[in-house]
Amino acid sequence: MKELFIKKGRQQTVNKEIKLKGIALHTGKEAAITIRPAASQTGIVFYRNDLESKDLIEARPESVVNLERNTTIGHKENDKASISTIEHLMAALWGAGIDNAEIAVSGPEIPVIDGSAYPYYQKILEAGIKEQTEKRNVYLVQKALSVRDNSASITISPYTGFKISYTLDYDHPVVGKSFFEFDALKDDFAAKIAQARTFGFAEEIEKLHEQGLALGGSLDNAVLINREGTVNPLRFENEFVRHKILDVIGDMALNGRIMGHIKAFKSGHRLHVELAKKIRENMIEEEN
Ligand SMILES: [Zn+2]
Repeated sequence: MKELFIKKGRQQTVNKEIKLKGIALHTGKEAAITIRPAASQTGIVFYRNDLESKDLIEARPESVVNLERNTTIGHKENDKASISTIEHLMAALWGAGIDNAEIAVSGPEIPVIDGSAYPYYQKILEAGIKEQTEKRNVYLVQKALSVRDNSASITISPYTGFKISYTLDYDHPVVGKSFFEFDALKDDFAAKIAQARTFGFAEEIEKLHEQGLALGGSLDNAVLINREGTVNPLRFENEFVRHKILDVIGDMALNGRIMGHIKAFKSGHRLHVELAKKIRENMIEEEN
Protein backbone atom coordinates (compact mmCIF):
# COMPACT_ATOMS: atom_id res chain seq x y z
CA MET A 1 0.00 0.00 0.00
CA LYS A 2 1.13 3.51 -0.77
CA GLU A 3 2.19 5.66 2.18
CA LEU A 4 -0.57 8.05 3.30
CA PHE A 5 1.66 10.28 5.36
CA ILE A 6 5.29 11.05 4.97
CA LYS A 7 7.49 12.14 7.84
CA LYS A 8 8.95 15.45 6.84
CA GLY A 9 11.13 17.25 9.34
CA ARG A 10 9.95 17.95 12.86
CA GLN A 11 6.86 19.65 14.19
CA GLN A 12 7.20 23.31 15.13
CA THR A 13 5.59 25.80 17.46
CA VAL A 14 6.20 29.46 18.29
CA ASN A 15 9.14 30.21 20.57
CA LYS A 16 7.19 32.52 22.86
CA GLU A 17 3.87 34.27 23.29
CA ILE A 18 2.84 36.68 20.51
CA LYS A 19 0.27 39.44 20.97
CA LEU A 20 -1.54 41.26 18.17
CA LYS A 21 -4.46 43.64 18.18
CA GLY A 22 -6.50 45.76 15.80
CA ILE A 23 -9.87 46.15 14.14
CA ALA A 24 -11.91 43.10 13.13
CA LEU A 25 -12.94 43.23 9.46
CA HIS A 26 -16.58 42.21 9.82
CA THR A 27 -17.65 43.30 13.32
CA GLY A 28 -15.63 46.54 13.09
CA LYS A 29 -14.71 46.14 16.78
CA GLU A 30 -11.30 46.14 18.47
CA ALA A 31 -9.93 42.61 18.73
CA ALA A 32 -6.81 41.02 20.21
CA ILE A 33 -5.14 37.64 19.92
CA THR A 34 -2.40 35.87 21.83
CA ILE A 35 -0.56 33.06 20.05
CA ARG A 36 1.07 30.67 22.52
CA PRO A 37 3.42 27.71 22.12
CA ALA A 38 1.66 24.32 22.21
CA ALA A 39 2.82 20.71 22.57
CA SER A 40 3.46 18.37 19.63
CA GLN A 41 0.30 16.88 18.11
CA THR A 42 -1.88 19.77 19.38
CA GLY A 43 -2.41 21.29 15.94
CA ILE A 44 -3.75 24.84 15.74
CA VAL A 45 -6.39 25.42 18.42
CA PHE A 46 -8.34 28.55 19.25
CA TYR A 47 -10.45 29.65 22.19
CA ARG A 48 -12.44 32.71 23.21
CA ASN A 49 -10.92 34.26 26.31
CA ASP A 50 -13.91 36.60 26.77
CA LEU A 51 -16.22 33.65 27.50
CA GLU A 52 -16.44 31.83 30.80
CA SER A 53 -15.96 28.41 29.26
CA LYS A 54 -12.62 28.28 27.50
CA ASP A 55 -13.71 25.56 25.05
CA LEU A 56 -10.94 24.74 22.61
CA ILE A 57 -11.89 24.92 18.94
CA GLU A 58 -9.66 22.89 16.66
CA ALA A 59 -8.81 24.54 13.35
CA ARG A 60 -10.12 21.62 11.28
CA PRO A 61 -12.63 21.39 8.42
CA GLU A 62 -15.28 19.86 10.69
CA SER A 63 -15.13 22.90 13.02
CA VAL A 64 -16.24 25.33 10.29
CA VAL A 65 -19.65 26.82 11.10
CA ASN A 66 -19.96 29.77 8.73
CA LEU A 67 -18.50 30.74 5.35
CA GLU A 68 -20.11 34.08 4.60
CA ARG A 69 -17.18 36.12 3.18
CA ASN A 70 -14.77 34.53 5.65
CA THR A 71 -14.00 31.23 7.36
CA THR A 72 -15.55 30.92 10.83
CA ILE A 73 -14.91 28.01 13.18
CA GLY A 74 -17.00 27.13 16.21
CA HIS A 75 -17.36 24.72 19.09
CA LYS A 76 -19.74 21.78 18.65
CA GLU A 77 -21.41 22.06 22.05
CA ASN A 78 -21.12 25.79 22.65
CA ASP A 79 -22.71 27.79 19.85
CA LYS A 80 -21.55 31.09 21.42
CA ALA A 81 -17.94 30.06 20.95
CA SER A 82 -17.21 30.93 17.34
CA ILE A 83 -14.27 32.76 15.80
CA SER A 84 -14.41 34.45 12.40
CA THR A 85 -11.91 35.40 9.74
CA ILE A 86 -9.22 32.90 10.73
CA GLU A 87 -8.06 32.27 7.13
CA HIS A 88 -5.25 34.85 6.82
CA LEU A 89 -3.80 33.92 10.22
CA MET A 90 -4.01 30.23 9.26
CA ALA A 91 -2.10 31.00 6.05
CA ALA A 92 0.56 32.89 8.05
CA LEU A 93 0.98 29.96 10.46
CA TRP A 94 1.27 27.58 7.51
CA GLY A 95 3.79 29.88 5.79
CA ALA A 96 5.92 30.12 8.93
CA GLY A 97 5.83 26.33 9.33
CA ILE A 98 3.91 26.32 12.60
CA ASP A 99 2.18 22.99 13.32
CA ASN A 100 1.15 23.59 16.93
CA ALA A 101 -0.19 26.73 18.60
CA GLU A 102 -2.89 27.80 21.02
CA ILE A 103 -4.59 31.07 20.09
CA ALA A 104 -6.64 33.06 22.58
CA VAL A 105 -9.07 35.51 20.95
CA SER A 106 -10.70 38.45 22.76
CA GLY A 107 -14.04 38.16 20.96
CA PRO A 108 -15.86 36.67 17.96
CA GLU A 109 -13.32 37.69 15.32
CA ILE A 110 -9.58 37.88 14.62
CA PRO A 111 -8.08 41.38 14.07
CA VAL A 112 -7.61 41.81 10.32
CA ILE A 113 -4.53 44.12 10.64
CA ASP A 114 -3.71 45.11 7.02
CA GLY A 115 -5.94 42.53 5.25
CA SER A 116 -3.03 40.24 4.33
CA ALA A 117 -1.15 37.47 6.16
CA TYR A 118 2.09 39.41 6.39
CA PRO A 119 1.76 41.16 9.81
CA TYR A 120 0.96 37.83 11.54
CA TYR A 121 3.77 36.12 9.62
CA GLN A 122 6.29 38.78 10.60
CA LYS A 123 5.31 38.61 14.28
CA ILE A 124 5.71 34.82 14.24
CA LEU A 125 9.18 35.10 12.72
CA GLU A 126 10.11 37.81 15.24
CA ALA A 127 9.06 35.58 18.15
CA GLY A 128 11.00 32.71 16.64
CA ILE A 129 10.11 29.16 15.67
CA LYS A 130 10.79 26.24 17.95
CA GLU A 131 11.46 22.78 16.62
CA GLN A 132 9.80 20.00 18.60
CA THR A 133 10.79 16.37 19.08
CA GLU A 134 7.95 14.69 17.17
CA LYS A 135 8.19 14.20 13.42
CA ARG A 136 5.78 16.12 11.23
CA ASN A 137 3.17 14.15 9.28
CA VAL A 138 2.40 15.45 5.83
CA TYR A 139 -0.66 13.90 4.18
CA LEU A 140 -0.26 12.82 0.57
CA VAL A 141 -3.44 13.23 -1.42
CA GLN A 142 -4.10 9.81 -2.96
CA LYS A 143 -6.57 10.60 -5.73
CA ALA A 144 -8.14 13.58 -7.44
CA LEU A 145 -10.99 15.18 -5.49
CA SER A 146 -13.08 18.09 -6.66
CA VAL A 147 -16.05 20.26 -5.80
CA ARG A 148 -17.94 22.60 -8.06
CA ASP A 149 -20.65 25.24 -7.93
CA ASN A 150 -21.82 26.43 -11.33
CA SER A 151 -18.71 27.82 -13.04
CA ALA A 152 -16.59 27.85 -9.86
CA SER A 153 -14.58 24.76 -8.98
CA ILE A 154 -11.60 23.49 -7.03
CA THR A 155 -9.71 20.23 -7.53
CA ILE A 156 -6.78 18.61 -5.77
CA SER A 157 -4.75 15.87 -7.38
CA PRO A 158 -1.72 13.82 -6.26
CA TYR A 159 1.53 15.79 -6.46
CA THR A 160 4.76 15.47 -4.51
CA GLY A 161 4.69 19.04 -3.26
CA PHE A 162 2.08 21.70 -2.56
CA LYS A 163 1.02 23.78 -5.51
CA ILE A 164 -1.91 26.08 -6.16
CA SER A 165 -2.94 27.23 -9.64
CA TYR A 166 -5.68 29.83 -9.39
CA THR A 167 -7.79 31.40 -12.13
CA LEU A 168 -9.66 34.51 -11.12
CA ASP A 169 -12.48 35.64 -13.37
CA TYR A 170 -14.71 38.51 -12.32
CA ASP A 171 -17.16 40.21 -14.60
CA HIS A 172 -15.72 43.56 -13.56
CA PRO A 173 -13.62 46.02 -15.62
CA VAL A 174 -10.92 46.40 -12.96
CA VAL A 175 -10.52 42.80 -11.79
CA GLY A 176 -11.27 40.79 -14.94
CA LYS A 177 -9.41 37.55 -15.53
CA SER A 178 -6.01 36.55 -14.18
CA PHE A 179 -4.02 33.43 -13.41
CA PHE A 180 -1.27 32.86 -10.86
CA GLU A 181 0.53 29.87 -9.46
CA PHE A 182 2.29 29.21 -6.17
CA ASP A 183 4.52 26.19 -5.71
CA ALA A 184 5.65 25.80 -2.11
CA LEU A 185 8.82 23.96 -3.16
CA LYS A 186 10.03 26.79 -5.37
CA ASP A 187 8.24 29.99 -4.38
CA ASP A 188 8.70 32.21 -1.35
CA PHE A 189 5.39 32.55 0.54
CA ALA A 190 6.45 35.81 2.24
CA ALA A 191 7.44 37.53 -0.99
CA LYS A 192 4.76 36.21 -3.36
CA ILE A 193 1.60 35.59 -1.34
CA ALA A 194 1.67 36.80 2.28
CA GLN A 195 1.44 40.52 1.45
CA ALA A 196 -1.56 40.31 -0.90
CA ARG A 197 -4.55 42.00 0.73
CA THR A 198 -8.22 41.21 0.70
CA PHE A 199 -10.34 43.32 -1.65
CA GLY A 200 -13.85 44.67 -1.87
CA PHE A 201 -16.09 46.46 -4.31
CA ALA A 202 -17.35 49.97 -3.57
CA GLU A 203 -20.74 49.07 -5.09
CA GLU A 204 -21.16 46.19 -2.60
CA ILE A 205 -20.34 48.02 0.62
CA GLU A 206 -23.86 49.12 1.43
CA LYS A 207 -25.27 45.61 0.97
CA LEU A 208 -22.48 44.08 3.09
CA HIS A 209 -23.06 46.58 5.88
CA GLU A 210 -26.77 45.73 5.90
CA GLN A 211 -25.76 42.09 6.41
CA GLY A 212 -23.49 43.13 9.29
CA LEU A 213 -20.38 42.36 7.21
CA ALA A 214 -17.23 44.39 6.44
CA LEU A 215 -18.13 46.95 9.14
CA GLY A 216 -14.42 47.33 9.94
CA GLY A 217 -13.33 47.45 6.30
CA SER A 218 -11.22 50.47 5.36
CA LEU A 219 -8.41 51.51 3.07
CA ASP A 220 -6.04 50.38 5.85
CA ASN A 221 -7.11 46.74 5.60
CA ALA A 222 -8.52 46.12 2.11
CA VAL A 223 -8.11 47.14 -1.50
CA LEU A 224 -11.21 49.07 -2.48
CA ILE A 225 -12.30 48.72 -6.10
CA ASN A 226 -14.66 50.99 -8.00
CA ARG A 227 -15.59 50.98 -11.71
CA GLU A 228 -12.52 53.03 -12.67
CA GLY A 229 -9.81 51.32 -10.70
CA THR A 230 -8.57 50.77 -7.17
CA VAL A 231 -9.04 53.57 -4.65
CA ASN A 232 -5.80 52.69 -2.81
CA PRO A 233 -2.62 51.61 -4.63
CA LEU A 234 -1.95 47.92 -5.24
CA ARG A 235 1.08 46.09 -3.80
CA PHE A 236 1.25 43.82 -6.86
CA GLU A 237 -0.23 44.37 -10.28
CA ASN A 238 -2.08 41.03 -9.79
CA GLU A 239 -2.72 41.37 -6.04
CA PHE A 240 -6.29 39.99 -6.30
CA VAL A 241 -5.34 36.56 -7.61
CA ARG A 242 -2.42 36.37 -5.17
CA HIS A 243 -4.86 37.04 -2.33
CA LYS A 244 -7.17 34.28 -3.58
CA ILE A 245 -4.20 31.90 -3.32
CA LEU A 246 -3.59 33.15 0.23
CA ASP A 247 -7.22 32.28 1.05
CA VAL A 248 -6.83 28.79 -0.47
CA ILE A 249 -3.67 28.21 1.61
CA GLY A 250 -5.43 29.36 4.81
CA ASP A 251 -8.42 27.12 4.19
CA MET A 252 -6.31 24.11 3.17
CA ALA A 253 -4.28 24.54 6.38
CA LEU A 254 -7.38 23.22 8.18
CA ASN A 255 -5.90 19.82 7.32
CA GLY A 256 -2.42 20.69 8.55
CA ARG A 257 0.26 20.12 5.92
CA ILE A 258 -0.76 18.25 2.80
CA MET A 259 0.76 17.39 -0.54
CA GLY A 260 -1.23 17.88 -3.72
CA HIS A 261 -1.78 20.16 -6.67
CA ILE A 262 -4.81 22.41 -6.35
CA LYS A 263 -6.45 23.90 -9.41
CA ALA A 264 -9.02 26.54 -8.53
CA PHE A 265 -11.40 28.50 -10.76
CA LYS A 266 -13.28 31.41 -9.20
CA SER A 267 -13.51 29.54 -5.90
CA GLY A 268 -14.22 31.11 -2.51
CA HIS A 269 -14.22 29.96 1.11
CA ARG A 270 -17.34 27.81 0.66
CA LEU A 271 -15.76 25.62 -2.03
CA HIS A 272 -12.34 25.62 -0.35
CA VAL A 273 -13.80 24.25 2.88
CA GLU A 274 -15.97 21.73 1.00
CA LEU A 275 -12.79 20.42 -0.60
CA ALA A 276 -10.95 20.47 2.75
CA LYS A 277 -13.78 18.33 4.20
CA LYS A 278 -13.50 15.85 1.32
CA ILE A 279 -9.75 15.60 1.84
CA ARG A 280 -10.32 14.98 5.54
CA GLU A 281 -12.96 12.28 4.90
CA ASN A 282 -10.60 10.49 2.52
CA MET A 283 -7.73 10.79 4.99
CA ILE A 284 -9.82 9.15 7.73
CA GLU A 285 -11.17 6.46 5.36
CA GLU A 286 -7.73 5.57 4.04
CA GLU A 287 -6.27 5.38 7.54
CA ASN A 288 -8.80 2.72 8.57
ZN1 LIG B 1 -8.94 36.63 2.29
